[in-house]
Amino acid sequence: MTLAAAEPDVLVVGAGFAGLCMAIKLKEAGQDNFVVLEKADRVGGTWRENTYPGCGCDVMSLMYSFSFAPNRKWTRMYARQPEILDYIERVVRDYDLSPHIRFGAEVISYDFDETTDRWRVETRAGSVFHPRIVVAGPGPLHKPSVPAFSGREPFRGTAFHSAEWDYSVDLTGKRVAVVGTGASAVQFVPEVAKTAARVDVFQRTPHWILPKLDRPITAGEKAAFKAVPGLQKAYRHAIYWSHESLIAGFLHPRLMTVLESAARGLLRRQVHDPELRAALTPGYTIGCKRILVSSNFYPALQRENVDLVTSGISEITERGIRTEDGQVHEADVLVYGTGFAVGDRFENEHLVGRRGLTIQRAWRDGMEAYLGVAVTGFPNFFLMMGPNSGGGNQSIVFVIEAQAHYITRCLALMTKRGATRIEVRAGAQREFNRVIHRKLEGTVWNSGGCDSWYLDETGRNRAAWPGSSASYWRRLRTPDDRHFELSSLAERENDTEYRGPGVLTSGDLTVGVEVFLNGHLEPLDGLYHWYGRVAGDGVDAAKQRSRTPLFLTIGDGPEVPAALAERDPWGHYRIAGAGTPPFPLAAVEVEVPVSGAELASAE
Ligand code: NAP
Repeated sequence: MTLAAAEPDVLVVGAGFAGLCMAIKLKEAGQDNFVVLEKADRVGGTWRENTYPGCGCDVMSLMYSFSFAPNRKWTRMYARQPEILDYIERVVRDYDLSPHIRFGAEVISYDFDETTDRWRVETRAGSVFHPRIVVAGPGPLHKPSVPAFSGREPFRGTAFHSAEWDYSVDLTGKRVAVVGTGASAVQFVPEVAKTAARVDVFQRTPHWILPKLDRPITAGEKAAFKAVPGLQKAYRHAIYWSHESLIAGFLHPRLMTVLESAARGLLRRQVHDPELRAALTPGYTIGCKRILVSSNFYPALQRENVDLVTSGISEITERGIRTEDGQVHEADVLVYGTGFAVGDRFENEHLVGRRGLTIQRAWRDGMEAYLGVAVTGFPNFFLMMGPNSGGGNQSIVFVIEAQAHYITRCLALMTKRGATRIEVRAGAQREFNRVIHRKLEGTVWNSGGCDSWYLDETGRNRAAWPGSSASYWRRLRTPDDRHFELSSLAERENDTEYRGPGVLTSGDLTVGVEVFLNGHLEPLDGLYHWYGRVAGDGVDAAKQRSRTPLFLTIGDGPEVPAALAERDPWGHYRIAGAGTPPFPLAAVEVEVPVSGAELASAE
């Protein structure tokens, strides 16, 4: 393939914390030939999308920045959304990332081309890129989830999700119904309650809440951070290690009593009505659902104009919400604080790896990756914030930095080996997941007695890393090359199993062709997959008969079913099949799974 001069070597998707961190780490590693595609017209990711009233971060500001780009401008202990967005935009300027970012570039398809070891990435606007490497930065909390209550459509008022706040609707004097009491709702309910006539808050499950020790960062503190070298860093380290110490409770839920008593203390201090307090007291171990941090949610619920509704929602009517006790709660505006579709991260994406493997097929039994960054079957493709890479106790920015570092080390490994392809071995991914899921069994997320977005519909934990964030960071310092298949196009051309004449048949059509084929046994499905290129005068005609089965025969060999894909830039068609190959097999190499001991433990 002749690549356009402007073809990027690395393509990063998303200009939020993850994509931008990746961009900075690439620059640091001396890689300047990369592009960041951003679907919107502004950087910021989740901090651009979530603008609801009161939106901010429940991780302390000093921990919520890149370690290499401390923010001297934080004004509060817990930063609000505009400040965080401002920080992200400043990072873009400071690291001169703008020339690399393409806005309005929503990716609609990713296809791996085995004949070139490059991806073909297409955007909705019709641009096509052929990068060597793809890094997918969109996080798991990305697609708003709105429950399918019966009757949602006929609601006559305005309805929106908290991540798509509709500021054209003035809530002053309105009756507002809020569904959900999660991390977003505890932030916007107190703000909405200040001006709305009524706010009905629909709680399905109470959440544990810890006090938010928020306050402005004083002028004295700011001056000290500026004057004393290392002070801000030391402060950050202190926050990091205090958060880190909490992991013991997540791994051994019986140790959660200390945190639980802090949460009960907040309830006792802020909610005096025993009935309301009982309704707000969770029946599961703290940490099972993400722990919320707020000092103004309970007071807001006790305002005259606010009601906590605990009866389940049975339907949305034209005028509001009908609950299971038969009551209709009339509303002018309905706000869904109902979270994100975590399990559906790639549900509708066209992401096709080796030999036509779709991400939906690869993840048919649930999302699974290796260290949250690589997925077998998808060479030269890296995820950020992938399955089982997050903790419940630490800033996600820390995780993102560790992953961006790891990905640059994987790229360095490719360069060192002269490889054009890197792919995590199926055995390594399988064993990694066996180890972490065994460790997850006793954790608070799995055994704390709640339902949460950490668990998929089968109850398997697809989100959490079962260890400290320091242990995750350590695992991501250096890639273990035994867990990756590294190869180059040139090597694989030499490995060609068959090159020579063949015959394509499709119904009454018989075409003499030249083929160039190789293949291997695929541990994912246990079948031999063969593939390569085919050229000949009648191939166009065979390709057009898309409904008639196609077969390839070589010499006296068997007639085997085959599929033709698109034409390559030289006019050859890609051809592939699975099962008995059309050429004799010399020997088939079967992958030896990596042992659990080699993978060490997740901790
Ligand atoms: P969330 O924490 O997942 O909360 C969703 C809420 O909607 C829950 O109360 C849930 O009840 C309720 N809900 C969902 N489906 C429902 C249904 N069918 N009927 C009734 N109630 C339903 O969502 P979120 O508040 O948008 O936060 C999502 C994640 O974003 C957080 O966990 C956090 O990681 C992140 N976030 C972070 C910050 C931050 O400050 N760093 C701020 C906001 C969000 P159940 O509990 O019963 O499921």
